[in-house]
Amino acid sequence: MNVLFVHAGHPHPKCLKAAKANAPMVKVINTGETIFSYWETISFHWQGTDDLLLIEQDIELPDGAIESFENCPEPWCSYRYSAPGVFDWGLSESLGCTRFRKEAQLAVSAAEIAGSTLTLWPGHAVPSTVGKIIWNRIDWRISTHLKANGFRVHVHGDARHYHPYPDIHVNEIVQNSIDAYLGKQGSLEAVRDALELAASGELNANRPTHPTGERPRLPDDVIPLIVESR
Ligand SMILES: [Zn+2]
Repeated sequence: MNVLFVHAGHPHPKCLKAAKANAPMVKVINTGETIFSYWETISFHWQGTDDLLLIEQDIELPDGAIESFENCPEPWCSYRYSAPGVFDWGLSESLGCTRFRKEAQLAVSAAEIAGSTLTLWPGHAVPSTVGKIIWNRIDWRISTHLKANGFRVHVHGDARHYHPYPDIHVNEIVQNSIDAYLGKQGSLEAVRDALELAASGELNANRPTHPTGERPRLPDDVIPLIVESR
């Protein structure tokens, strides 16, 4: 089994330590060079010749996870993790700690996953990216194709997730700037400013949590700004 710990330059020390302790065979790979580097890494290992386990930079590989995956015959397995304030449900089809057996890779090729013209937000297709997938669309593309081919994820438990999300208030500010931009009453520059404010943490102090807050909807031309502000 190929075990990859992938990071974009800032692996969480607890997560890197857990990966090395619980998976001595782990390969640590920086996939942060370009917005397509993560997909290039995955597709390189998605050949149907070996099973593939992805552990992302802010996920703590649970004790016993390797044995649990090795002993499970299911083709698509994961540990679920939470994203408080962004998603109100556990993420089990994302790539935080997910194992794809060879048979899943053979059933759905990397070329098929990358060659599709699926878009997450109708009306906001990404032009000229067939064959490449931006880092934050990969999980959705893979899960969509696997499910279309009859696969269902098998959840082994929960993993700790250390990603710091801005609170809902920050999301609202970002969302408002995006809505204004989409309604042609705002500019990409304003979206950039909102994202930079969100990234600065300045807005996070002492803000109440919005009880019905939703994750910002991000149009495709805003994604590169988010990558820049990370
Ligand atoms: Zn399983």
